[in-house]
Amino acid sequence: MDPVASKYVINPPAIVAAPIKGTQELFPVRRVYCIGRNYAAHALEMGHDPDRETPFFFQKNPDNLDFSGTFPYPAKSSDVHHEMELVVALKDGGMNIALEDALDHVYGYAVGLDMTRRDLQGEMKKMGRPWEIGKAFEHSAPMGPIVPASEIGHPSTGKIELSVNSDVRQTGDLNQLIWKIPEIIAYLSEYYELAAGDLIFSGTPAGVAAVVKGDVMVCQIQGFDDFEVTVI
Ligand code: MN
Repeated sequence: MDPVASKYVINPPAIVAAPIKGTQELFPVRRVYCIGRNYAAHALEMGHDPDRETPFFFQKNPDNLDFSGTFPYPAKSSDVHHEMELVVALKDGGMNIALEDALDHVYGYAVGLDMTRRDLQGEMKKMGRPWEIGKAFEHSAPMGPIVPASEIGHPSTGKIELSVNSDVRQTGDLNQLIWKIPEIIAYLSEYYELAAGDLIFSGTPAGVAAVVKGDVMVCQIQGFDDFEVTVI
């Protein structure tokens, strides 16, 4: 776009859009929400109570998403962890969405990674400061293509597993989610006006660990194609 020919004083940022599996179609992204500690075994490994504590959320920026299958190792960290997650894509939203209606708002699902600068996140935790510097950095959200719910349904059970260079690192089952997908949507909508284009990363199973350049992460969720991401 020519900014001179429009009302914009600079070129507008590009729309971030996720591929839809098996098509040339795209899902434009509005917001990226992430829930923390949503598998008991992961809460335990991070030193927290695995009970059903009130869910909490943070956000990544839409332009942190990366659909290329590569993850450039980020600046200012020497302890970057993989967190493999089921991602929910909303086709519409609203506030105070009823639990029983929550899944009606879902367009589809994808396999994603909540890559984390764990050392920086840890420093922020210690000081009681926000997590953005550990969570919302360039390329921090690798994501596979979205599979429409009309094709895959609403997965609530099935293996979720991540291996690095063929060694299994993270393993769990979607049925171990502490807060289930409808509950996450209903709860979030009490605090935010959800809308079409929102993504929700639903939490990671136990086994988070560091990656180094050259590592190949293979993300598997039952029913989805494997999503492979190389650390470069
Ligand atoms: Mn996470």
